[in-house]
Amino acid sequence: MGKPTGFKEYTRRLPTDRDPLLRILDWKEFHDHSTEQDLQEQGARCMDCGVPFCHTGGMIANMAAGCPINNLIPEWNDLVYRNQWKEALDRLHKTNNFPEFTGRVCPAPCEGSCVLGINEPPVTIKNIEVSIIDRGYEEGWVVPVLPKEETGKKVAIVGSGPAGLAAAQQLRRVGHSVTVYERSDRIGGLLMYGIPNMKLEKHVVERRVKQMEDEGVKFVTNTEIGKDISAKQLTEENDAVILAVGSTKPNDFFAKSAGRDANGIHFAMEFLHQNTKSLMDSELTDGNFISAKDKDVIVIGGGDTGNDCLGTSMRHGCKSLTNFEIVQQPPHERSPNNPWPQWPRIMRVDYGHEEAAAKFGNDPRHFSTQTLEFEKDDAGNLTALKTVELDWEQVTEGGPPFTPIPGTEKVWPADLCFLALGFSGPEQTIAAELGIKTDVRSNFQAEYGEYATNIDGVFAAGDCRRGQSLIVWAINEGRQVARECDRFLMGKTQLPG
Ligand SMILES: Cc1cc2nc3c(=O)[nH]c(=O)nc-3n(C[C@H](O)[C@H](O)[C@H](O)COP(=O)(O)OP(=O)(O)OC[C@H]3O[C@@H](n4cnc5c(N)ncnc54)[C@H](O)[C@@H]3O)c2cc1C
Ligand code: SF4
Repeated sequence: MGKPTGFKEYTRRLPTDRDPLLRILDWKEFHDHSTEQDLQEQGARCMDCGVPFCHTGGMIANMAAGCPINNLIPEWNDLVYRNQWKEALDRLHKTNNFPEFTGRVCPAPCEGSCVLGINEPPVTIKNIEVSIIDRGYEEGWVVPVLPKEETGKKVAIVGSGPAGLAAAQQLRRVGHSVTVYERSDRIGGLLMYGIPNMKLEKHVVERRVKQMEDEGVKFVTNTEIGKDISAKQLTEENDAVILAVGSTKPNDFFAKSAGRDANGIHFAMEFLHQNTKSLMDSELTDGNFISAKDKDVIVIGGGDTGNDCLGTSMRHGCKSLTNFEIVQQPPHERSPNNPWPQWPRIMRVDYGHEEAAAKFGNDPRHFSTQTLEFEKDDAGNLTALKTVELDWEQVTEGGPPFTPIPGTEKVWPADLCFLALGFSGPEQTIAAELGIKTDVRSNFQAEYGEYATNIDGVFAAGDCRRGQSLIVWAINEGRQVARECDRFLMGKTQLPG
């Protein structure tokens, strides 16, 4: 423990975010950076508790409590306090292949479990994490790590999101020949084409991909397994195959709602993917994206995806912005049934909410609101959404856990509506071709920690196995599936995870 009195001397301090009204004028990251002195002081707040919870990563009440990849948080907090940045980076890379991603966009369950958080604001763990890796890149400390010897074994990985990338890096570093197949034109999965630039600038993804290329990982883009190359061919030409294809089937709870076929209703991922691609291809000059400029925009659904639709619409210059959430508004403080060290289920203001409030004067969210139908004009274009408010205290037996409140129906003008309603599992083409068993939620069936599917030599990891989740869990599963795949190939393994 660096400074025994640190947590008494220093208060929690994060870098200020860029001014919302200015940052919506560009696509750069919305965070500013901390000074070195601030970071040392924040590191000094860590108490190096006898029993730290921040790095436990267990599941409590169905949510991660502590860091799912068991980052050695107290150790690198202490090293940052002592100004030993390179050692801090080495310690961080022991458990996390990609701290530049988690340090930017992880919801930080570690901070929800920080012991200091019982009666004080927790240590700024996530900000220290990203500062360590950004410093590492600035100093030139992040270099290719080459395997000591080649094993002659071939592994194909399908999907280049964080699960596929973590698996690829781990397997390559122990000497296997690794090829990653990606159907998009760029590597990164949702790091590239889901999470927008203002949360994660794409040069951050590309520099890591470059490191992996230099380590010898082969990347094949614009290639869909099951279509351009059969899954069977992949299993025949490789010693093992890892499926890391994500959870890509969007939920559509409105499939049978009146007006659902109106022009202007899109799944969130159409909007987000096209926007980032056009931005990267042409700075949005090619027009190959859905524009929210001067439009009344409604986003249905919260979470990261809904919020990213808000932030993207703001940057296009939308006329108005509204966000419906069917759930009740969470409390501002932890409720008694959500104690430490559980992930705090509290009302949060994310960047998109903050930006909409700064421009239009109100938080765009309307909780306990259910969309009933969509209205369209004679040309089939969306004109409005009709909603009703919900009472979550009153439950009708055998019905949903809420009751619509009579007389609260309302019509909201809308030109564009984005559906951010979550995902219902991976596409089934590969599973059907190889005969891979799926679970009740249509995810590829493979035990957590083992990752073997029912087909010998075929593994599954990340969102396609566990269902839609978080980057930190994808990295966790990518590292662990590499360990199990290495064990399968070599009969033993030294890979951690
Ligand atoms: C809009 C959005 C915002 C998010 N924001 C956050 C956030 O802020 N923080 C956070 O922790 N998590 C966030 N998430 C969740 C996180 O991105 C995912 O949990 C994570 O990316 C899952 O990683 P993965 O590697 O399993 O799959 P993915 O990242 O989905 O990657 C799967 C890849 O497989 C490719 N693929 C699929 N089928 C084939 C095929 N047949 N052949 C070849 N390639 C194929 C896909 O094109 C894709 O590139 C967000 C998700 C979304 C949708
Ligand atoms: S990966 Fe997430 S949970 Fe783990 S230390 Fe970083 S911010 Fe915290």
